[in-house]
Amino acid sequence: MPAVTSVLVVGAGLAGTGTAIHLAAAGVAVDLVEIKPEVAALGSGITLQGNALRELRSLGVWDQVRAAGYAFDVTGIRAPDPHGSVVAEIPDARTGGPDLPAAMGMPRPELARLLVDRATEVGVKVRLGTTSTELAQDDTGVDVTFSDGSTGRYDLVVGADGVRSWTRRALGIHLETRSVGMGIWRAFGPRPASVTRTDLYYGGPSYIAGYCPTGEDTLYAYIVEDAQDRSGLTPEEQLATMRRLSEAYHGPWDEIRGTLTAPSRVNYTWFETHLLEAPWNRGRVVLVGDAAHTCPPTIAQGGAMALEDAVVLAELLTGRAALDQDLWNAFHARRYERARTVVEASDSLAQWQLDHVQGDIPSLMRSIAMLTSQPA
Ligand SMILES: Cc1cc2nc3c(=O)[nH]c(=O)nc-3n(C[C@H](O)[C@H](O)[C@H](O)COP(=O)(O)OP(=O)(O)OC[C@H]3O[C@@H](n4cnc5c(N)ncnc54)[C@H](O)[C@@H]3O)c2cc1C
Repeated sequence: MPAVTSVLVVGAGLAGTGTAIHLAAAGVAVDLVEIKPEVAALGSGITLQGNALRELRSLGVWDQVRAAGYAFDVTGIRAPDPHGSVVAEIPDARTGGPDLPAAMGMPRPELARLLVDRATEVGVKVRLGTTSTELAQDDTGVDVTFSDGSTGRYDLVVGADGVRSWTRRALGIHLETRSVGMGIWRAFGPRPASVTRTDLYYGGPSYIAGYCPTGEDTLYAYIVEDAQDRSGLTPEEQLATMRRLSEAYHGPWDEIRGTLTAPSRVNYTWFETHLLEAPWNRGRVVLVGDAAHTCPPTIAQGGAMALEDAVVLAELLTGRAALDQDLWNAFHARRYERARTVVEASDSLAQWQLDHVQGDIPSLMRSIAMLTSQPA
């Protein structure tokens, strides 16, 4: 008998769907509520590192991920010169194991859709366009009221509702989410044949310009600048700003720039960071993924950390007989330090660039690769 028989998961991102799939596959009754009416609406791309791919395989979606995404094992470093010269080609560590690629680009909407489909397939009751509005727990369960007026009682509630988590606030937890001082322009579009891996251009007028193939026909490209208030720009002005910033970058960027024509495909956001000190649970409600820890995507590990939280939590909930302090101690022992290390490394990489400091990037990347190569 697992430690729980009924669970509510709030949020259908990587952490939420991952938790829901593993629990339901083990026979737990799982409700999953997602505030957005549609999970696969327009979105950008995501870089999934090997350790994220390992967890996606455990969720039973690896074949679909492999078919939809674009795998690569080397990251290129290019100069912001008139030719976009390649200055280094760095083999990426296969952190998910030798039988998985080092990294893979995926369109975010496609990843979201296939995870929600998998959740439905294993018996999760998915309710889109719905959220929880009240939580009240006692010693034996959590009473929840939903936005459609319905109610439910669960053994456990999992708050997987992202950076600005409603669940976190409902628990009365104050966590400051800090801007790290960088903003990122991202655009989703067609993949030129010359883009077969992630290339990063350091320097020039922006901190980083890069791209990642996300499928045979698609990629996402990005430019990282000082965080600034871009909220007053119209979509057309946003597109024009990203195009203008990209003019300092050449090689494949020349072709990508030619395809930057759809304002709806351009998006701007700030890099943010926070880390909730353990414990991440209050009684029978626990926070996972970005709700508990978030970081700038300088090593593209946020998705992997969210998936790992999900897998470890589900493993403990289904492998133990009681939802007790021992279970929470085991969860935090496996998750807190690992997430903290990733958040701090990601923050350091951003800070070195902001300060124009030559940090020891190879050694930091090696230590993260060693850490994430170990199963969570
Ligand atoms: C610019 C940028 C680029 C990034 N690039 C990468 C990358 O390349 N690789 C990588 O691994 N990571 C990347 N990340 C980080 C990654 O996106 C996150 O770490 C990851 O998505 C976290 O997953 P999550 O499930 O915890 O949260 P989310 O993905 O945010 O999912 C939370 C879900 O909860 C829903 N929700 C919110 N509030 C409620 C509510 N009240 N009720 C119900 N549902 C709710 C949301 O709609 C959402 O679907 C990037 C982050 C940023 C900001």
